[in-house]
Amino acid sequence: MNRPLPMPGPRFPTPKPRFDLFVICPGNSCRLKTDPIRLLVPLPLPKDVMRGLWPSRERPLYLACPACHEVSVYGQAFFGDFVEQENRAWLSISFRCGWEGCTVPAEFHVLIDRKANAVKQDELRHLLNRGHWKGVLPCGHPVTAAGDKKVVFEWVAGRMQGYDAADPRWEKL
Ligand SMILES: [Zn+2]
Ligand SMILES: [Zn+2]
Repeated sequence: MNRPLPMPGPRFPTPKPRFDLFVICPGNSCRLKTDPIRLLVPLPLPKDVMRGLWPSRERPLYLACPACHEVSVYGQAFFGDFVEQENRAWLSISFRCGWEGCTVPAEFHVLIDRKANAVKQDELRHLLNRGHWKGVLPCGHPVTAAGDKKVVFEWVAGRMQGYDAADPRWEKL
């Protein structure tokens, strides 16, 4: 029989783009200057996100850039389609500022490889104290100002919450 050879199927299925929100690091010397930092918003997008009401200037997000580690404040984000999968997840780092006379609640988020069961709190604490993340807290003091205060590390469930010093969740700190 002289049957035609079957055409080979695609070796890899074309990945479907995933809708997400992103921000761009404002750092002048950041190598990710033009690359998006994804906010990893769970789908389907909530209505306020669709309407551009999250993040907001009133409750902005404090995010550490994964490239230059500078913590910046983001009051708005952009919409985009992403084909590549993001294997990291946002982790929240919160504490009360330990600068002398200042106890203002502080929080910023970092992108961490989630499969790192390897992520140990004392290692994160060490990174925080030795200045791995740079920039300033909502009170204007440096990110390293946690000092010896209690620090809470939490994976973000759902989407990140914007910063609000009056939020009752600071009572745990
Ligand atoms: Zn950066
Ligand atoms: Zn402070």
